[in-house]
Amino acid sequence: MLNQLRDIVEHVSRVEDIHQALEVFVERTCDAINSECCTIYLSNHQKQRLELMATKGLTFSGERLHIGFQEGLVGLVHRTAEPLNVAKASLHPDFKFFPQLGEDVYQAFLATPIVHRKRMLGVVVIQQKTPRLFSDTEESFLVTLAAQLAVLIASEQQQGNWLLQERKSSTVTGLSACNGIAIGPIWRGNDEPLLKDVSPASAIDIEKDKEWLLVAIESALTEFRRLRKQLDSDLNKDALAIFDLFTHLLNDPKLRGDLIKQIDKGDAADWALRQVIERYSNHFARMNDIYLQERSQDVRELGQRLLYFLYHSQAKEIKLEKPVIFVVNELTTTLLASVPRDKLLGVISLQGGVNSHAAILSRALGIPSVIGSNLKGIEADDRHIILDGYSGEVLLNPTAKEMSDYQKLLAEEQEVRSMVESEVREPALTSDKVPITILLNAGLGGDASYSFFDVVDGVGLYRTEISFIVKQAFPSEDEQVETYRKVLAYSQGKPVVMRTLDIGGDKSLPYFPMEEENPFLGWRGIRFTLDHPDIFLIQVRAMMRASVGQKSELKILLPMISGVPELDSALSLIAQAYHEVALTHPRVKKPKVGIMLEVPSMIYLLPVIAKRIDFVSVGTNDLTQYLLAVDRNNSQVSELYEVVHPSVLMALKQIHDACRYSKIPVSICGELAGDPIGVLLLLGLGFKQLSMNSANVANIKYVIRQSNLDDLEALANQAITKAYASDVHKLAFDYLEKRDLAGFVRPGKH
Ligand code: PEP
Ligand code: MG
Repeated sequence: MLNQLRDIVEHVSRVEDIHQALEVFVERTCDAINSECCTIYLSNHQKQRLELMATKGLTFSGERLHIGFQEGLVGLVHRTAEPLNVAKASLHPDFKFFPQLGEDVYQAFLATPIVHRKRMLGVVVIQQKTPRLFSDTEESFLVTLAAQLAVLIASEQQQGNWLLQERKSSTVTGLSACNGIAIGPIWRGNDEPLLKDVSPASAIDIEKDKEWLLVAIESALTEFRRLRKQLDSDLNKDALAIFDLFTHLLNDPKLRGDLIKQIDKGDAADWALRQVIERYSNHFARMNDIYLQERSQDVRELGQRLLYFLYHSQAKEIKLEKPVIFVVNELTTTLLASVPRDKLLGVISLQGGVNSHAAILSRALGIPSVIGSNLKGIEADDRHIILDGYSGEVLLNPTAKEMSDYQKLLAEEQEVRSMVESEVREPALTSDKVPITILLNAGLGGDASYSFFDVVDGVGLYRTEISFIVKQAFPSEDEQVETYRKVLAYSQGKPVVMRTLDIGGDKSLPYFPMEEENPFLGWRGIRFTLDHPDIFLIQVRAMMRASVGQKSELKILLPMISGVPELDSALSLIAQAYHEVALTHPRVKKPKVGIMLEVPSMIYLLPVIAKRIDFVSVGTNDLTQYLLAVDRNNSQVSELYEVVHPSVLMALKQIHDACRYSKIPVSICGELAGDPIGVLLLLGLGFKQLSMNSANVANIKYVIRQSNLDDLEALANQAITKAYASDVHKLAFDYLEKRDLAGFVRPGKH
């Protein structure tokens, strides 16, 4: 049977058209089970009925055939969501005779629901003339097939192909890369020469081709400087790091050297460029870590820009007469930056990831964006479409009602945004005048040449991984000193918390591959660095050396601590590093040391470690993952990754109370601290220091100013009595709604 199963799945998935695929399915399933009839019905929830989509064995006249959710055996299977196996269908109390189906000839009936992630998609039925019960094996065969079919149908529906006539692909769903709503006409970008179209060619004059390439590099560097300057006036400077990353790569002697070497082999400059860029890009794409895989796109974008400058002497400004929703094959930072902001309503990118630098930039600039290959049916014309960056939906043929609903939402959203941004410099004081410390999560930009420090109180989490990841080997102590010095120098005298290397899990170093069954439970964070004290010592020495003579105070943060022996070992290595640095830098100050509280075991050990550490930073991203046993990167279980799960709240309360009792300063640096719902609950639980991405700062400061701490304490007390995360969410959402702040979470369309 297994072979037959595989055979059906293979044949079905080979067919491009879904309707044909369903035909193949019914045909082959009949053969495999040796039955006379197989039928697929799909659920039409709008009309509360099941529609016949494909059949072998039923003959019917007329257009389309449907069965109400309350009707007959098929309706029963849909309602109960359970398989049904009856020897003589006509004797079953729910049997209904459909004359147009000529079904009276079939007696044996086996049906199973088609379910995808708890959603009923339809019913598949097997029938036979002679009365008989289908065997257990046949039943489980059909259940298995229906599960496979569910995946296929769900993916089609996600692409806007509902298969049912009424829905006719007017809504296409991708992934939200930046919240917000855009309404307007489509404009298609990307008419640049494509790197992938460059064909093999030899250099006629090797020296000339080298010069040609170097001129292109210089032009690209000039353009990046110009674009950087242009963006400099925007509020959020985090995104500028992208152009610094490009500049850094272009100045990297290794990349330049490889390009020159390729031309020296006799290849023309453009062909050499394509080969080297693809090599670099493939190298990133093969990495396990999603962040790094997405850097592969950045490298390709850089290559694409260089190609442009090889072919043109000057960068092209995109001229647009009216504001548009930009549709591109792949969103690139340069493309995004070359369209004037006032002409850009939103962005739809057919390819790419929500964590690519381009997506980061769209978020930083606040441009509603949706990303995903499911959007490929979108064509440019004059009609107005709706882009819903909250849900990731694109409405291609909106109805008049949808249009007016969204226009209303858009107006509300614009009002909120301008109010919030005008107040970003205001202090983060609650309405009852309690000051909240707002810190920045930094480090994802490759280096730290951005500044956002005038509106925050310091850096609450500097992730050092990326400066290791972008290298070919572990960075030397001197290289690290330089990186950390820049971070401290940019921080305008405000404290900076630097986290020691947190690799493992989903982040591995290209030059230090790790293969583990359960990487998140494996050799990660402090476990790795304690096994390599040399690497740890170099890093903490570099941090301390970088701090000498700086106004900003350095604090060191240890990731993934799960027990006291690890902490003691790390502390003694830090003490050793301090003494070593003090020999050559007598002015060095002993940094404060804290732990990331992200492994639940440490909650119970806070009183024990209180005297050993200077502060705690709660990593809610991992704490949630480990407390709920839900992989934070697995989309299959993402619904279970509930950031306001009652247990997470209880854990946070316990952490807060234990830290207060033991007088340990505590802050939150997980994503929860940048989420308005999370912030209400965190403040209510008593936390007063929040560290977040720069994009969240204005919103969160605003929410804080509209909130009253007494109210939030009452809210949190109520929240921790709830059994469902959805109830906790609702409590906090209602609080926001009463204060007209619900727009920060999601405009109330639904
Ligand atoms: C966390 O786990 O909450 C955290 C801030 O660290 P990271 O997301 O880098 O694991
Ligand atoms: Mg973490």
